[in-house]
Amino acid sequence: MKANNGTGRAAPGPNPFRALPKIDELLAAAGSDAALRAVPRPVLLFAARTILKSEREAIRDGKKAAPPAVDYLAALREATEAFSQSSLAPVVNATGVVLHTGLGRAPLGDRVVAAIAGAARYCALEIEAESGARGRRDQTIRQLLCPLLGVEDATAVNNNAAATMLAVNTFANGRELIISRGELVEIGGSYRMPAVVSRGGARLVEVGTTNRTRIFDYEHALTESTGAIMKVHTSNYRIGGFTEDASLGEIVELGRRRGIPVIHDLGSGLLTKDLAPALEREPVVADSVAAGPDLILFSGDKLLGGPQAGIIAGRRDAVAAVRENPMFRAMRLDKLILAGIEETLKIHLEGAAARDLPALYKLNVTKSRLEEVATELARRLKHEFPALTVDCRETVSEAGSGSAPTTELATVSVVIARSGISAAELARRLRCGRPAVYARVHDDLVWLDPRTLAPPDLDLVVRSLRAVL
Ligand SMILES: *Cc1c(COP(=O)(O)O)cnc(C)c1O
Repeated sequence: MKANNGTGRAAPGPNPFRALPKIDELLAAAGSDAALRAVPRPVLLFAARTILKSEREAIRDGKKAAPPAVDYLAALREATEAFSQSSLAPVVNATGVVLHTGLGRAPLGDRVVAAIAGAARYCALEIEAESGARGRRDQTIRQLLCPLLGVEDATAVNNNAAATMLAVNTFANGRELIISRGELVEIGGSYRMPAVVSRGGARLVEVGTTNRTRIFDYEHALTESTGAIMKVHTSNYRIGGFTEDASLGEIVELGRRRGIPVIHDLGSGLLTKDLAPALEREPVVADSVAAGPDLILFSGDKLLGGPQAGIIAGRRDAVAAVRENPMFRAMRLDKLILAGIEETLKIHLEGAAARDLPALYKLNVTKSRLEEVATELARRLKHEFPALTVDCRETVSEAGSGSAPTTELATVSVVIARSGISAAELARRLRCGRPAVYARVHDDLVWLDPRTLAPPDLDLVVRSLRAVL
């Protein structure tokens, strides 16, 4: 207890607020720090104020009574990291997960990157050369998607989540939308089908059961208020055992007979089986097109192998209705992505996907090639780091992003261990290194899968390991 000073309050000890540095002092100290000297003043000022504010709050809330012992320069360096190193700097993906959502899904190849760079300045995004009049920005992708997919019309929006919400809203706003109970997926985070349907303005009507839904379940659920039927690809899980679901063909037939639009959310968007034969059970766009739903929706950055987008393809009147929805404008693609999607589609049309789209190349690379790269990487690591235990092991890679979740792609990985450092710690250091290397940890070993490495990545792995060991 502090002595009473006659005012009814505790006698002031040394005022802890006074022990906080002044902003000017902090900035002056930052001026003599090599890393902080390069940080622009507004960034430093903002960081310094934020740090001091949280210190003052901690003192006020009684979490800190004594003058805070804070390494302010370290705190400033951490708070201004975003300036000194881009969070989107390239990283090495050694996880073997080809479409790693955390690492940006489909890696883009040189042709697509060049197309994106080419659109960066002025480009004829929405203008007709002949007349000089305002044109439509999705005209080119439409001309590419229609022959590629064999559909009447097509367009694209920001991602497949947007495409789904837009389709729901276009056909079932204020109406009922029928989905099988076996298809009410959560893709990740807050993206859950029932929430998407309600935010899209529709009332969800669930039919069937988790494991079995038949065509008559859909038929019985049709009412005056039915806006659409949606079939959703259960991308990231698979129900086994006693299961049955109505085929897309049956649903399309029902929809036609009763005048109800059918939407197929295909998720990953593998165009044809031969683009990735290893993904045996992954549904393909070609089969969906053959079944003939009104709309087909899939992502641009999953098995299509391009930048983030949501492809919307199907019948002329259905796609036209989507385009007329005011939400379409809120979800439209910018010129950079549009350029990337266009080039991705051209590559598919040329039949060059497995060569020019790295995601598809990586899914198809042969086991013997993977073995060669693993052997080479292991040889170099043994040579450079005698203290490291290095070995090659057979294991599996994944397509990722909910694509073909139960398909295991055979691979050979390099496994490394270092006595005195846990695998988790070694992997953490690699992630925080420069360049950052993302690897898998399993059995207290760090696994480097060559499937997701590009040739220059071998040097980067060596360089990164040299820095962290
Ligand atoms: C991935 C996926 C989505 C979301 O697609 P994004 O392009 O990531 O927005 C929606 N539906 C299905 C079935 C998916 O697999």
